Amino acid sequence: DLPFLQSRKGHLDRLYGGLLVDGLDEESCHSRYQSAMYRRNPGRRPSPYLISKLRRHEALQRRCGPGTAAYSDALEQLKSGRSAASPPAECKYLVSISYQGLGNRILAAASAFLYAVLTNRVLLIDPSNDMDALFCEPFPNTTWLLPPGFPLTGYTNFSVDTAERYGNMVRNKVLRADAGDGDVPAAAARLPAFAYVHLNHDATVEDNTFFCGDAQSVLRRVQWLVMRTDSYIVPGLFLVPAFQDELDAMFPERDAVFHHLGRYLFHPNNHVWGLVTRYYGTYLAAARQRVGIQVRVFGGVPDSPELLEQITSCTQREGLLPGVLAAVEPISPASRARSKAVLVTSLKSWYYEKMKGMYWEHATATGEVVSVHQPSHEEYQQSGARSHDHRAWAEIYLLSLTDVLVTTGRSTFGYVAQGLAGVKPWVMYKPDNDSAVPEPPCGRDVSMEPCFHMPPGHDCRMQWADPSKDVPYIQHCGDAIWGLKLV
Ligand code: GDP
Repeated sequence: DLPFLQSRKGHLDRLYGGLLVDGLDEESCHSRYQSAMYRRNPGRRPSPYLISKLRRHEALQRRCGPGTAAYSDALEQLKSGRSAASPPAECKYLVSISYQGLGNRILAAASAFLYAVLTNRVLLIDPSNDMDALFCEPFPNTTWLLPPGFPLTGYTNFSVDTAERYGNMVRNKVLRADAGDGDVPAAAARLPAFAYVHLNHDATVEDNTFFCGDAQSVLRRVQWLVMRTDSYIVPGLFLVPAFQDELDAMFPERDAVFHHLGRYLFHPNNHVWGLVTRYYGTYLAAARQRVGIQVRVFGGVPDSPELLEQITSCTQREGLLPGVLAAVEPISPASRARSKAVLVTSLKSWYYEKMKGMYWEHATATGEVVSVHQPSHEEYQQSGARSHDHRAWAEIYLLSLTDVLVTTGRSTFGYVAQGLAGVKPWVMYKPDNDSAVPEPPCGRDVSMEPCFHMPPGHDCRMQWADPSKDVPYIQHCGDAIWGLKLV
């Protein structure tokens, strides 16, 4: 074993307190059972109820997933264009569309997974945009990837214009809340073979009735759902009355939902795990403390001295990194035991170069040794380009192995890292005016949960409501004030 790895006792830790099942093939997925050794922060413990739900869900994925007779039958039903005969089919499916940047895709998949667990649906991930090239299979002895040949050939282009959009069918009264349990055969005849659930940033008021109880009693009877979201809709699921008891039992700690879902679902595949572990071993392992700094910048935007100032003043004011001495002064010999390694991730290299230069050219006020590292600088976002996505995933994962995190507000890339890490980040808020350094330069997030950027703006009676006012565990996000997050 490598000497820097955390010494861990018992195999419960390797399995994250029972979140993961033991006994899967280790060769095909090294990260699954090794990742815990790289984490200094063991993280939160999953509840026994969550663990039992996961085991039951794994069984459902195996019983109904690709390759089973039930799956072939369900595909035939979908091709027929009619809903399954009543009673509702035992095997129901949720296809989650993968689009946008990697952080968005991961949050969409995690959201879809939780919805699938709550509604006893098999989750099938759209393999496009490299979603089939980054992760190990999370469910034992089956696949979570939608196989080729799916009959809804254009599903990746489903949008607000799709006729089978749930919100559209509500508006046109094709789907009615009373098509639920009552007159079962007649109701089944009225139900479509599938519905497209559009929970994207441009979702309409009707689409957002998804978060109401009536919607769920109709959707329950539709065998196939296709879902698109570019956000973390989980706080919205906590607003659905029908899900509340289950969610309470699964997540007694509501600020750790993505933390558990993320550690359960997203294991880097062997290629990405090689990128992670080689980098970690070479640059981060030996330090006493690792500080991750996520600098989210956009392609064409010039390097910003104000953002650099925001980073240095945030890290120094919060005591995350030492300040430097102005003049050349004799200092006590540096001790390796007091070293910090900084992992910078960014599309640009300028911020890293400046920080590295600062700690090279000046001694630190504390005598600590600070090394600064950045794995890549891709310059432009190229989601869907394989090696680019490999690097992005490796960097998100490396950030999640640091002890302290500084992130850029509103970035799903940072959200994924903080959730996997199990740490509340210091968030660098977006300044109102780009030519000024915000004051304060950063603030501690209220929880490690991702922010739901575009939550429904109404309650289920179509009146304005602000859940942060009456749900104690939901607050507005510090980095996106219109968003909602679990705390
Ligand atoms: P968001 O746009 O900040 O919410 O994060 P996303 O992950 O959804 O989209 C940004 C995409 O840009 C990433 O998935 C990467 O493809 C790329 N990207 C942004 N920042 C970085 C970075 O620090 N490192 C790498 N390798 N890629 C980045």
